Amino acid sequence: MKLKTLEIEGFKSFAKKTSIDINKNLIAIVGPNGSGKSNVVDAIRWMLGEQSNKQMRIQDREDVVFSGTNKHKPSKFAMVSLIIEIDEKNIKLTKYFDKNKGNIYSINDKNSTLKDILNLFSNGIGKQFYSIISQGQVSDIVNSSSEQLKNIIIDASEIKDFLDKKNYSLKLLEKTQENLDRINDILYMTE
Ligand code: ATP
Repeated sequence: MKLKTLEIEGFKSFAKKTSIDINKNLIAIVGPNGSGKSNVVDAIRWMLGEQSNKQMRIQDREDVVFSGTNKHKPSKFAMVSLIIEIDEKNIKLTKYFDKNKGNIYSINDKNSTLKDILNLFSNGIGKQFYSIISQGQVSDIVNSSSEQLKNIIIDASEIKDFLDKKNYSLKLLEKTQENLDRINDILYMTE
């Protein structure tokens, strides 16, 4: 599977429809501070269903829509399409958002769900085969304490729920042991 083309329109700083060819061994996007380099990665994240406003660097979900400048009117919608190649076939994945309709996903211009889109990525390759490393994340990891590193690994291996359940059960066991001790005390006193 290959990412081929990214089309962005009305998303963050991209007022007009912009097409980025990622087919030809693109390895870097360069530009002055604030020129929209990270917004390109945000567009891919958003298209693939990123739910976290923090990761998207926004306050509200509407903040992804181009908010206007002196030269350009605000956009009424945000739209990102990603053209990918699977088994030598091009597939166009699109996410559209406006205030009235909310999020609309499509595959090859036919309405679809995020689940269907993510299923394309999970075909035989494993659910999380793509990874996006955010700015500062590498230095954050390098500078982490061992406790923070442990939490990163717990996060990555998605075992947090199990650890929470284990801790809950251990607390229940402790409470039960206290109750047993109390019962034994009472039994001893009444003997
Ligand atoms: P740096 O090199 O400093 O990390 P960058 O090139 O990665 O910068 P981005 O963070 O991608 O820059 O883009 C920031 C720009 O995007 C800011 O100028 C900000 O005003 C603009 N921007 C973000 N959201 C919107 C929006 N909804 N409408 C218009 N512009 C937006």
